[in-house]
Amino acid sequence: MEIRVVGVVGAGVMGVGLGHNLAQTGHQVVLLDVSPAQLTHAENEIRKNLRFHGMFQKGAQPVKADEVLGRIRFTQSYQDFSETDFVVENATEKWDIKKGIYPQLDEACPERAVFAANTSCISITKIAGATRRPDKVLGMHFMNPVPLKPMVEVIRGHHTSEETLATAFQLLTQMGKDGIVVNDYPGFVSNRVLMLTINEAIYLLHDGVATADQVDHLFKTCFGHKMGPLETADLIGLDTILYSIEVLYESYSDSKYRPCPLLRKMVDAGLHGRKNGKGFYDYGVSM
Ligand code: NAD
Repeated sequence: MEIRVVGVVGAGVMGVGLGHNLAQTGHQVVLLDVSPAQLTHAENEIRKNLRFHGMFQKGAQPVKADEVLGRIRFTQSYQDFSETDFVVENATEKWDIKKGIYPQLDEACPERAVFAANTSCISITKIAGATRRPDKVLGMHFMNPVPLKPMVEVIRGHHTSEETLATAFQLLTQMGKDGIVVNDYPGFVSNRVLMLTINEAIYLLHDGVATADQVDHLFKTCFGHKMGPLETADLIGLDTILYSIEVLYESYSDSKYRPCPLLRKMVDAGLHGRKNGKGFYDYGVSM
């Protein structure tokens, strides 16, 4: 069965990337957020990113922005999810928020619909427990920026069926991507390592060992990384980093995941990274 209509919950950094990528690859998209301002922002961001598309993807066909945007319905209502074949959930990385979303999806979506949680760290098995269809729930950890990243970490929850995995891979093929399947424990593979690395890099700053620029420069020049850990943190969003490391701390009851006080202070101060103009670096945009 072809996956035609895809619901996307959360129109933030990841919702913008997914909405763009899905619509550009021919899917009908229903993009939902609780915040009308965020929906307007998402529409503007997708239009802007579509314009730049040709500059980032070599050999790509020119994109007709209006045609692609015409495939996205921006909404605050789950009633618009009645024809979805597949849903990707990208709401804020907090269990208290996510757990309220899945029962609404269960009500609104057809029985056949698969639910993919694009969470950074929350257990997929725990999320599946908030639905009436645990076999149709899996993790799909897309990378940021979504349209430019060809690989996805696919997470098999305790009850995820083989059919659900096959459907997820069909969607990835339709989007021009591939996936690597891993098992479910909080943080999976990528973020169990990455969040610790970023948190420790923030401790280096906090302890006065080095500047942000020095930390990132070392990783780029000595290890050949494309971005240093603090630049990566700014790209992901410092609020999302904090919530993710809090999830790991609670999930494993392990002090190695304790968030650096400097990270918490920056989030409290509204320094969320690229998405609002200032984090470890200044992006020249007013907050
Ligand atoms: P974000 O803060 O940019 O966006 C989150 C969005 O969720 C906001 O627009 C907010 O209004 C919306 N939201 C909050 N409560 C909601 C609700 N009840 N229903 C619907 N929408 C709601 O965050 P993001 O970076 O887009 O991250 C979203 C999810 O994707 C998180 O689970 C995060 O861990 C995960 N993720 C993030 C990245 C990244 O690089 N930023 C990468 C992979 C996965």
